[in-house]
Amino acid sequence: MATTAGSRAGSLSSLREFNRLRIVDFLRTNGTASRAELARRTGLSRSTVSTLVADLQRRGLVAEKAGQFAGEGQPGRSAALLELDPSAAAAVGVDFDHDKVRVAVSDLSRSVLAEASAAHDVDHDSTGALDLAAELVQRVLDEAKIEPDRLLGVGIALAGPIDHDKGALHPSAVLPGWSEIDAANELERRLETPTYVDNDANLGALAEVTLGAGRNVRFAAYVSISSGIGAGIIVDGRPYRGHRGTAGEVGHVVVDPQGPICRCGNRGCLETLASGPALLRLVQDSRDEQLTVKKMIDLARDGDAGCMRAIADAGQVVGGVVAGLVNLFSPEMVVIGGDLGEAGDLLLDSLREAVRRDALPAAASELKIVAGELGERANLLGALALVLMQSEHEVAARVAGSAAA
Ligand SMILES: [Zn+2]
Repeated sequence: MATTAGSRAGSLSSLREFNRLRIVDFLRTNGTASRAELARRTGLSRSTVSTLVADLQRRGLVAEKAGQFAGEGQPGRSAALLELDPSAAAAVGVDFDHDKVRVAVSDLSRSVLAEASAAHDVDHDSTGALDLAAELVQRVLDEAKIEPDRLLGVGIALAGPIDHDKGALHPSAVLPGWSEIDAANELERRLETPTYVDNDANLGALAEVTLGAGRNVRFAAYVSISSGIGAGIIVDGRPYRGHRGTAGEVGHVVVDPQGPICRCGNRGCLETLASGPALLRLVQDSRDEQLTVKKMIDLARDGDAGCMRAIADAGQVVGGVVAGLVNLFSPEMVVIGGDLGEAGDLLLDSLREAVRRDALPAAASELKIVAGELGERANLLGALALVLMQSEHEVAARVAGSAAA
């Protein structure tokens, strides 16, 4: 972004370097662009862009993306798409899921180079989970042959609202072992590299607007429905955390004051009516085989009336809460992910109907409500995207710096 690069302008030796930074920064943020688009978006002239791009290309830092062209330009002539040399730097993502640890390493283009995961009781053993994560990170770095000096940092996804002053989860009964632990600090100490942390729904949201269903959408909400329900809110391309890091906790919006007691201590929270476990409780009684969320969705797809009803009703109650979210901050898109997001239109049809009914028409008329595209890897890919977002100065300076050398 121009403002980010602008703050560095004083320390750079020339306007040329500053302009080169703007090009690098745009490609880093957007992945690819044609020369014409770069000129339009940076305000630089086309000839300046051509000169700077040629310079970056000569040094192997920017390349034309093989076989891909922008759909602009005159008919019959397509514009080549440019991208950063992906190998200029690497990022690591870690997802502390409830029962497993996943890690991945990616290049600057966000392509995953190596990935690993291992089962672990993450909820009850934070120290063991952090040790395991450090071990897995080392394994994927070795596998992808990433030298330590190319690593920008590590991003962590944690399943709960984060107190960013402490770097730890807000105390809760759900993850007792994590509320006293500064996870970023702990992993940074083990790996000796800058480490960033955010809530899993915020990172799922960041992943979906970077790589998934909401690519390039600036204002979006991502609602993850799994064992819990959480939302990540994207404002101007970035996760919105709120003052205390608890923004997007839609799972604990009360939808039935007389409803079941929630794990948060309140009654009738959205989670008690529409999470995976809540739906399983509804349908399990009427059958002998042990159901899982996946099995329930498969049955609904095959026309099982009870499973279809449970999922559609969940869509309706989630839709009511999403309508409130839509009225409050007017997103362009709502992406539904998590285990139950896999149900697709079985869930989304009733959800869309409830939003249309309950939200302000002006906010909902052009709203797109879609299923997530990244599935269970959304949080992990978001942790990678977090590193690239947090280290934007670093990336731009490294690439521009080696261009100037
Ligand atoms: Zn609750």
